[in-house]
Amino acid sequence: MTRVATPGDDVRVAFVGAGPGEADLITLRGAARLQVADVVLFDSLADPALRQLAPNARWIDVGKRGFTGVAHAPRGGGRENTGQDTINALLVKHAQSGVRVVRLKGGDPSVFGRLEEELEALAAAGIECEVVPGVTAALAAAAATQRPLTRRGAGRSVALTTAMTKSGDLTAGRHADTESFYMAGKQLAALSRRLVAAGWPAQTPALVVSRAGWPDQIASEHVVATLGDATVLHSGRPTVVTVGVGAAAIGATPVVVTDDHALPATPAAAMPEPATAAPARATTPTP
Ligand code: SAH
Repeated sequence: MTRVATPGDDVRVAFVGAGPGEADLITLRGAARLQVADVVLFDSLADPALRQLAPNARWIDVGKRGFTGVAHAPRGGGRENTGQDTINALLVKHAQSGVRVVRLKGGDPSVFGRLEEELEALAAAGIECEVVPGVTAALAAAAATQRPLTRRGAGRSVALTTAMTKSGDLTAGRHADTESFYMAGKQLAALSRRLVAAGWPAQTPALVVSRAGWPDQIASEHVVATLGDATVLHSGRPTVVTVGVGAAAIGATPVVVTDDHALPATPAAAMPEPATAAPARATTPTP
């Protein structure tokens, strides 16, 4: 096993979780790594305001496109997605040139961030690196709606799942009391059908949150059977879908345990402001 770098080591590459939304959701350690970076390879989901932490670094956009709402300059040139091989090669090239590199990823680098491929590329080149964690989207969605992912006695497990397969098909299972689905925002109606087929009761609470952690975050409340209703509201925005115990409003419903899973006895009540959660730093919907 290769030695894992520890904080304080003079490592040349740091993977940094930018957090899910506005710049101040990055960790202090992540900010410190940016401040000493010479080159920053960044994702499109990272807040452009983070550039202020490293104004003299060279910022290279290696983002994958597909969402509206985040505007790193320059835009509009019809830029294609950067392929993973290109990103790997850029990482190695810049690290070998002797500069300090930050690989800035939206949310947490270890969650659906293709971190493994970039770690492998660096390891193959014999380059040490460090990973600085970040706040992943599922946690920002829970915070935005004040709906804890775990619930004492009833919600004992959380799964972070992508419904998307490598080939672009949709798949869903039932793996935990609370399950958080990434990358399914474009196919909510299909996700709904797959969830029912996977054994989630149709009336299980389901929460859809897009742009969690941003001032324009939106949350809407559904049950598994009606997830498709959220399609238009969240269209074109990064979206996370929380299903199960952790999707229910606090105090709204008693919880019963069925089999080894806990499920609310009745559908969750509608949110007072059904469509819109307040900005992250202001108040959020009253449960
Ligand atoms: N590493 C990231 C996930 C990258 S995969 C993390 O830890 O959050 C991209 C998917 O993450 C999107 O399709 C969406 O499902 C989710 N996502 C990222 N940012 C989000 C946000 N601010 N609000 C809701 N979902 C988000």
